[in-house]
Amino acid sequence: MYLKSLTLRGFKSFASATTLAFEPGITAIVGPNGSGKSNIVDALAWVMGEQGAKHLRGAKMDDVIFAGTTGRAALGRAEVTLTIDNTDGALPIDYTEVTISRTLFRTGGSEYAINGHPARLLDVQELLSDTGMGREMHVIVGQGQLEQILASDPRMRRGYIEEAAGVLKHRRRREKALRKLESTGANLERLNDLIGEIR
Ligand code: ATP
Repeated sequence: MYLKSLTLRGFKSFASATTLAFEPGITAIVGPNGSGKSNIVDALAWVMGEQGAKHLRGAKMDDVIFAGTTGRAALGRAEVTLTIDNTDGALPIDYTEVTISRTLFRTGGSEYAINGHPARLLDVQELLSDTGMGREMHVIVGQGQLEQILASDPRMRRGYIEEAAGVLKHRRRREKALRKLESTGANLERLNDLIGEIR
């Protein structure tokens, strides 16, 4: 599985439709300050379901829509499409190529689509979970975040690694199961007391 292309239309500084084609392996995006490199990374996180405006370096979600420049009027919607090569079947869907699209309208309302079919955020999250590209987005390490990770204490660093490896969700499930077991034990104890009182 690898990212094949990313198309931005009306997303942040990318007013006109712009497609970036990626090859397997490492891709470097270079450009002057303010040319939109981080906006591309934001688009990647956004199309995969990012819900936090501040994670996209904005105050509110519609800050991702092209706000206009002196020569060009603001747009009414932002649209990003990600194409993923799935010839190895890493994504649990019966297609060798998968497209995920997200559209946001300035008037409110947003839409997701998987291979052109309307989908819910949950569908996108489920499709990507267990690929390392899921909910928590630790696969995208932003500017300055690297330093934060390196400076974090060993327990937090372990958390980051477990999240990326998909271990954390099992740890959370285990903790939840243990809490349930504990409360069931307490209930059982209470029940035994009651039985003792009745006898
Ligand atoms: P640096 O190398 O300094 O980190 P960069 O190449 O990563 O820069 P970005 O942060 O991706 O640059 O892009 C910043 C530019 O995007 C700014 O000029 C900003 O005005 C523009 N921009 C951000 N949001 C919008 C928007 N909604 N509409 C129009 N332009 C926007």
